[in-house]
Amino acid sequence: MSLTLEHCRERDARDPLRPLRDLFTLPAGVIYLDGNSLGPMPKAAAPRVAQAVQQEWGEGLIRSWNSAGWFELPQRLGDKIGTIVGAKPGEVVATDSTSINLFKVLSAALSIASAGSPQRKVVVSERSNFPTDLYIAEALCKERGLTLKLVEPHEIAASLDSSVAVLMLTHVNYRTGAMHDMRAVTRRAHESGALTVWDLAHSAGAVEVDLHGAHADFAIGCGYKYLNGGPGAPAFVWVHPRHADRFWQPLAGWWSHEAPFEFTPHYRPAAGIARYLCGTQPILSMTALECGLDTVLAAQPFGGMKALREKSLALTDTFIALVEERCAGHGVSLVTPREHALRGSQVCLAYVDPHASLPPEGASAALGRPGAGREGAYAIVQALIARGVIGDFRAPEILRFGFTPLYLGFEDVWNAVEHLREVLATAEWKRDEFNRRNAVT
Ligand SMILES: *Cc1c(COP(=O)(O)O)cnc(C)c1O
Repeated sequence: MSLTLEHCRERDARDPLRPLRDLFTLPAGVIYLDGNSLGPMPKAAAPRVAQAVQQEWGEGLIRSWNSAGWFELPQRLGDKIGTIVGAKPGEVVATDSTSINLFKVLSAALSIASAGSPQRKVVVSERSNFPTDLYIAEALCKERGLTLKLVEPHEIAASLDSSVAVLMLTHVNYRTGAMHDMRAVTRRAHESGALTVWDLAHSAGAVEVDLHGAHADFAIGCGYKYLNGGPGAPAFVWVHPRHADRFWQPLAGWWSHEAPFEFTPHYRPAAGIARYLCGTQPILSMTALECGLDTVLAAQPFGGMKALREKSLALTDTFIALVEERCAGHGVSLVTPREHALRGSQVCLAYVDPHASLPPEGASAALGRPGAGREGAYAIVQALIARGVIGDFRAPEILRFGFTPLYLGFEDVWNAVEHLREVLATAEWKRDEFNRRNAVT
């Protein structure tokens, strides 16, 4: 049976999460499929940040560290994030950036591993992991005389031997949307004696995550993607309590000290996750992040992450079905795994011009290798953006669409696919204006 616009409207009409859309300011005429890169603005953010500027900073001045609760923000926001990723109160702090938090936890994990088993000198990760994760790991391995071993997803299990200290993975792949089974992969890593570091950048607020249920060791994640914390929002870090007090992390700034206001010349690490703080936090950004977290927590009365995940899968299933039905023959093919357990909240399509003469292999086999007929993806995304359908492009031929169930509906999905179909069918994307590159894609 073909899906119709009517079906999509009916699904929206009986969607219990529908009212959550009103928590956001979304520009008229925009279908926002890029909340996986930068979540949209919660309506509460502008007045809340204005209040933090005018009252807390303007009137309260330095007193606000106490009177406005500035000092406890990393913990308070951390507890809210904890409820979204399966951590317990007091186990998460919101702080610094994802890259910096990765440096801290990977350092701690490597110190723990080498204290027990100095012969373990390898960090394993995925070749298609997000570059900053790989760069941080590469730099740290270089400094410590370790080896960073990059493998394909199907090679992970076999790569885990007695030389491996840490397995560092991103739970949902930024490029393909493929998701690891955190529990099974962690079990396999532990059987081999390795510790796990999970990056939840594309998971937190997007899929159900149960860090304790998976027996994970360390996790970090991003505040400005599905958590809607605003551009450059602070990230977060979680360390399992069995590890939290075992090692100093190397960015041992004064906020991670047991008693920062004693101003002693010697470092004494705070107990627990506070040890993973570094220095003074960006309070205004923290304030905006809290508004973003509250949009995700607003789903709790409706079933929380479980309900969000169910709707996200229904949206992505609908998108995939409509693309395959209505855009067939126009050169787009599905890159994201179809199976629910194997994917996050985004759908990636590969574009190969059906009229160009191509080497024999298929689109997905050519991932990472631009070639004849594979240059259109960037311009297609630009043409969609000009029509108000905001997704993004990942080189060389990926069209990436993120689906956030907090504010997207089924009619949005229908309309997005209609725009895509028209852009492809009319070759609108070939216009010059869509083929000029910007710095940020
Ligand atoms: C978005 C993302 C980051 C971002 O790191 P920043 O320090 O915020 O620039 C890191 N890792 C992954 C896997 C991401 O998806």
